Amino acid sequence: MAYDPIWTANPDKLSKFELVKLEKDGLDVIRTIIEEYAINGYDSITAEDMDRFKWAGVYQQKPRDGHFMMRVRINTGIMTAAQARALAEIARLYGRELIDITTRQAIQFHWLTVENLPDIFKRLEAVSLYSYEACGDCPRTIVGNPLAGIDKNELMDTTEIVEEINSFFVLNRDFSNLPRKFKMSISANIYNNAQAEINDLAYTPAVKIIDGNEVAGFHLMVGGGLSAKPHLAQKLDVFVRPEETLKVAIGVITLFRDHGYREKRHHARLKFLVADWGAEKFKEELIQLVGELPTRGEDKTIGWQAAYFDGIHPQRQEGLNYVGLNVPVGRLNTEELLQLAELAEVYGDGRLRTTMSQNIILSGIADDKLTALLQAPVLQRLSPTPKNFISRTVSCTGNEFCSLAIVETKKRAVSVAEYLDEHVELDEKLRIHFIGCPNACGQKQVADIGLQGSLIKTPDGMIDAFDIAVGGTLGGGDLRPPAQFARPLKGRVQGDRVAPVLVQLISFYKEQRTAGENFQEF
Ligand code: SF4
Repeated sequence: MAYDPIWTANPDKLSKFELVKLEKDGLDVIRTIIEEYAINGYDSITAEDMDRFKWAGVYQQKPRDGHFMMRVRINTGIMTAAQARALAEIARLYGRELIDITTRQAIQFHWLTVENLPDIFKRLEAVSLYSYEACGDCPRTIVGNPLAGIDKNELMDTTEIVEEINSFFVLNRDFSNLPRKFKMSISANIYNNAQAEINDLAYTPAVKIIDGNEVAGFHLMVGGGLSAKPHLAQKLDVFVRPEETLKVAIGVITLFRDHGYREKRHHARLKFLVADWGAEKFKEELIQLVGELPTRGEDKTIGWQAAYFDGIHPQRQEGLNYVGLNVPVGRLNTEELLQLAELAEVYGDGRLRTTMSQNIILSGIADDKLTALLQAPVLQRLSPTPKNFISRTVSCTGNEFCSLAIVETKKRAVSVAEYLDEHVELDEKLRIHFIGCPNACGQKQVADIGLQGSLIKTPDGMIDAFDIAVGGTLGGGDLRPPAQFARPLKGRVQGDRVAPVLVQLISFYKEQRTAGENFQEF
């Protein structure tokens, strides 16, 4: 350990899990998995190491019968066709052909066994992909603009910045024991493509006149996060030049590591420290670590498109296009991913891009290749022109695999969206998010309609139900109304009543809205 773990001065103030992390660093479990558990099997895994599996990007799935889920970091959501093929092959060999895209642009497998893990790590490393620290109390997958490099609406290509910051932190033992998970967002897109306000640290596009020259760089937001107690990130009064982004990330994460709360797990995210310190004190502490930074410049974010890209769009490069495809609730299979990789190579620039709305973009498609691309059979289901409601439905994993889930989510989300597409005509696209528990991986707080799984008592016993919240949105910089979380409606809806209740809710909205009013303003 190269740094002084100052928080250990008062061991009585450390949660039980902090002691587990001090006894053995989370990253050490990767070697133990390869050298011991993969050989000796599931029953040989200690309870403490099972908790440390997260640092390998691996969790036990439900039921706890020896199967695991794994998350793979796809930083800024951009992968090559070769990487996509490697992922598809892992799903085919070990993951029952199932591939999920998460709301943080990562890829998730299920049904893995501990014996499979060393080979999966090797296969990932062979294509420069990693599951390491995709979970755990460490800097996780960096979300970003999936259109980086091809985007007409970005201030600069952020791919290399993300790459540099990612390379610095992955497997870096100075930062592998944070109080809790740390989520970063880096995007120069003017439509907030990387959902800045719900991250621990977000870089958003800005310009500033420095020494008479206009410099393109970033503004900084800190302390955002969802879960049961959601917080919107606060803006710091600083401007960050592109070459200072790594230094600033190190500063922010150092503050979190050394001053973040470690007594209670549910009070350990950076958002609680930022809420207590306030933006001004946080900025002062940051400057003490990284040196002076210019004050804020001009914010360049002008809207929020909720990371949706379906359809055909011209790229920054003349004559080239990107095509946004709908992946219903983020789930696809091996064959579909292989076919998309093939399309990316035959018609595009060989890249596939995952979005925070759980969808996929193919890029670099020349004008004269669009027609042929659109005829590909795989685009029948993964459509660039999806129906209204299925196009905007997001779902977390739910109790199919997640041991924290209270209810099933993905299948229900698809059936509700299909029902709405059949029964409701609406001239606007409502974003409907399902989550299986308060942890909010499906980001229900930023949805137009957010549904959180719960239970209700009936004469026949406990059954699945959902709490409904409405009107969540993120912001669009200084020019738009600020972000707000969805507000809960009274009552709890039985699982099999969700679709008809949403029909009623949307009908009420259609009848009552005034001209020009949208769902968020309603
Ligand atoms: Fe699991 Fe809850 Fe996250 Fe859904 S929101 S994946 S149920 S932890």
